[in-house]
Amino acid sequence: ATFADRWAGFGVTFRTMFRKTFTQGYPEKGKVKVTAPRFHGRHQLNRWPDGLEKCVGCELCAWACPADAIYVEGADNTEENRFSPGERYGSVYQINYLRCILCGLCIEACPTRALTMTNEFKLGDTSREKLIYTKERLLAPLLPGMEEPPHARRLGEDEQTYFLGLPKTGTPDTRTGRAPVGEA
Ligand code: SF4
Ligand code: SF4
Repeated sequence: ATFADRWAGFGVTFRTMFRKTFTQGYPEKGKVKVTAPRFHGRHQLNRWPDGLEKCVGCELCAWACPADAIYVEGADNTEENRFSPGERYGSVYQINYLRCILCGLCIEACPTRALTMTNEFKLGDTSREKLIYTKERLLAPLLPGMEEPPHARRLGEDEQTYFLGLPKTGTPDTRTGRAPVGEA
């Protein structure tokens, strides 16, 4: 390279030194940038309004996953040990974030909308084991009116009326406080 070429190279360096920076000190400095509303972050296992789980342990999410990141074991509900309103529930549920590429194919495959994705993107951790999220870590938090399973169905006289969100006859709707449908 000629003498002039070398100075041209330094010119690029000096120009860049005074440009506005786009990188961000994280997490100590500055505000954490808000993600787009439909950003695909950490998954969540959702609940029905009485706290029962929406997952039915069907494994469709695991079969849809191109990275083989999901492990599910289904089991039967009994009246004494009920985790979801129907016949089956997910007794073991794990997502391995060492494998997951956050593509969202699993949430599209889920027939009950049990599995969705949140905006949470801080998935770094200090060991490989901690990045295998268990069902307990993925379950949605309990909202007012919800109770941690196992427990009996709090809505509906049977499965059909439960899924329609109808309250049990004689009990007020826990979400609205209204009298049951068909009653004064
Ligand atoms: Fe698998 Fe994609 Fe779902 Fe991650 S987001 S668990 S890679 S299907
Ligand atoms: Fe089936 Fe959805 Fe549960 Fe996966 S999260 S096992 S697709 S119900």
